[in-house]
Amino acid sequence: MDYAKYIKNVPDFPIEGIQFKDITPLIGEGKAFHQAIEELAEFGRTLGATKVIGPDARGFIIGAPVACVLQVGFVPVRKPGKLPRKVISYDYELEYGKNTLCMHADAIKAGDKVLIIDDLLATGGTMEATIKLVETAKAEVVGLGFMIELTALDGRKKCGNYPIKVLIQY
Ligand code: AMP
Repeated sequence: MDYAKYIKNVPDFPIEGIQFKDITPLIGEGKAFHQAIEELAEFGRTLGATKVIGPDARGFIIGAPVACVLQVGFVPVRKPGKLPRKVISYDYELEYGKNTLCMHADAIKAGDKVLIIDDLLATGGTMEATIKLVETAKAEVVGLGFMIELTALDGRKKCGNYPIKVLIQY
């Protein structure tokens, strides 16, 4: 599947200098979306994932169907103030701006094998923060899956040595 033909590049969004990769045409095309989810789920299956985690907000769009295919639980990692119960949190830098991510403190447990899914790997800050949340919960990260990797930003250096699956590289 040539996924790249469904990705629209939007220059200078949300701020000047950013080449924004819009995944909405890909998720808007049923066959392409389905195959992308199946490929990421197959990666998680081979790793024996027992939980899928996705960061706010596009990580939900991709991570939740991956979890559903694998028939394992999905855990949302969210911006501050959105989760109603006790959270653990981590601050990090984005390609543009800063952010804090939170996860319910009881969402994952020691012994869980966690597959982390997001739409795009840029600087790796979001992934690093999500990995820290999983490690804080004393669970095991088994792999990281993305639709897109912006290789020039070298986000992999913040991803530890965990197995990575990417569908499209720029
Ligand atoms: P980072 O933490 O720098 O790896 O950024 C990853 C997150 O920011 C992803 O969840 C993306 O949704 C978003 N993001 C960063 N850069 C871009 C970009 N050029 N195009 C689209 N989304 C981006």
